[in-house]
Amino acid sequence: MERRASLISKHHKEEIIGPIFDEFGWSLETVWADTDQLGTFSGDIPRRQSPIETVRLKALLGTHHTDAPWLVASEGTIRTSFTGLVEGIEIVALVPRGTGTMVTGRAMSHALHAVSFRVDRTTSEDEIIRQCARADLPRHRLLVGTADHRGPSIGALATKRDVVNVCRRLARRDTSLVVQTDFRAHLCPSRQRIIANAARDLMVRMTQYCPKCGEPGFGDQGTIPGLPCRDCGHPTDETFAQRWACPSCRWIEDRKTKPATADPARCQWCNP
Ligand SMILES: [Zn+2]
Ligand SMILES: [Zn+2]
Repeated sequence: MERRASLISKHHKEEIIGPIFDEFGWSLETVWADTDQLGTFSGDIPRRQSPIETVRLKALLGTHHTDAPWLVASEGTIRTSFTGLVEGIEIVALVPRGTGTMVTGRAMSHALHAVSFRVDRTTSEDEIIRQCARADLPRHRLLVGTADHRGPSIGALATKRDVVNVCRRLARRDTSLVVQTDFRAHLCPSRQRIIANAARDLMVRMTQYCPKCGEPGFGDQGTIPGLPCRDCGHPTDETFAQRWACPSCRWIEDRKTKPATADPARCQWCNP
């Protein structure tokens, strides 16, 4: 297998992904493409496909711009979980140029620096400055746009003064503004760490070969609950096995985890 790939990126992700590929003996070149057409964090361009389909389409934007056997792209999702915590989820994918199967690496973290607040004509300058104090400026940046995504948005703002000025400029009688962390990869160090972890997960998978078909990418796909209770034998929500799967032939292997039984304190029958 030739370990040569082209990264399709608009926002300098080679600085994040390149060193990790290098560590695993891959060479990575960069192809610039306007990946914003597949969706932006500001919401100006909504993402129409799932993250997995988006990362595949993004990688394929490079098809005619490189002769590397593999195309690489990354896709992030930022969402608020039901507990109210902001989650950053990153996928980095290797897509073969010809036939073959995409392999994905993933990472999830709550250590994402994210702020968001509304500004309308009644919001005072002091209030905007007070809210900006939570934004970790200038290490992170802010982006101002209209709440309805109809107007323009202006990002990469590094100072409170810039944010106040842009809010003044964009303010209209009828719409409110949203000020939020600018999540574009080159401006968001806390997101960069998650992208790096996803790239590492991908590289590790590429060293693991499927025992059935021999293709790379064999890896952990998640946990299977149902570990039996030590006292009554009833299945619990505790992890019973780690599921490994092959993206090429779909071969699945459930690897049992230790211990073999669950603490009765975790059992809905013994300790409801
Ligand atoms: Zn029990
Ligand atoms: Zn396989």
